[in-house]
Amino acid sequence: MAQPHILIVEDEAAQREVLRYNLESESFRVSMAEDGERALDSIAEDRPDVIVLDWMLPHVSGIEVCRQVKARSATRDIAVIMLSARSEDMDKVRGLETGADDYVAKPYSVNELMARVRAQLRRVRPTTVGQVLTFDDISLDGETHRVTRSGKTLKLGPTEFRLLATLMEKPGRVYSRDQLLDLVWGRDIYVDTRTVDVHVGRLRKVLTAHGGPDPLRTVRGAGYALG
Ligand code: CA
Repeated sequence: MAQPHILIVEDEAAQREVLRYNLESESFRVSMAEDGERALDSIAEDRPDVIVLDWMLPHVSGIEVCRQVKARSATRDIAVIMLSARSEDMDKVRGLETGADDYVAKPYSVNELMARVRAQLRRVRPTTVGQVLTFDDISLDGETHRVTRSGKTLKLGPTEFRLLATLMEKPGRVYSRDQLLDLVWGRDIYVDTRTVDVHVGRLRKVLTAHGGPDPLRTVRGAGYALG
């Protein structure tokens, strides 16, 4: 699977480094921003799966960053874990209804924060943390990479596997070709959007090889969805 991508937004360099070290030890891809403005740029440029967001930041506060992330449909699904200096402040942050998915008070235990990050990933990118996903008679194991349909093992190439995993994480959701390129191929690789069509075609062929209806839906002018 494409590695989970975590963005750390924290103005204190020492804290940023501790978090980066621990998140990278879990094989996550890590981006960092030292203020709210850079955080918003970074989110627009290279969408993370989870944001660990400090409340007190220079320029644009963590609360404002969270509000903007949750206000846009393109970024609403990103999990936001808000950090705050004191637990009393945390109650205030909660009361502001920023839409954050979780709250952790400083000083936090790094192990506890890592557990919260994993919990958010289980929700937003389940296959990246080894969950088994099912859709109708299709089952996909994020850990063993085994895919079955009606109990029969399907042989998928690595790209088709990532494509199916991405679609199975949010059945019914329509993904544009550009979104699939970002999620399945990653930002750093240049591939034409037509490539998406080619791999969707291959995936279709494998999924229907032993019979059963085609679960992939082509949405004209929009992209692809599962179911
Ligand atoms: Ca701070």
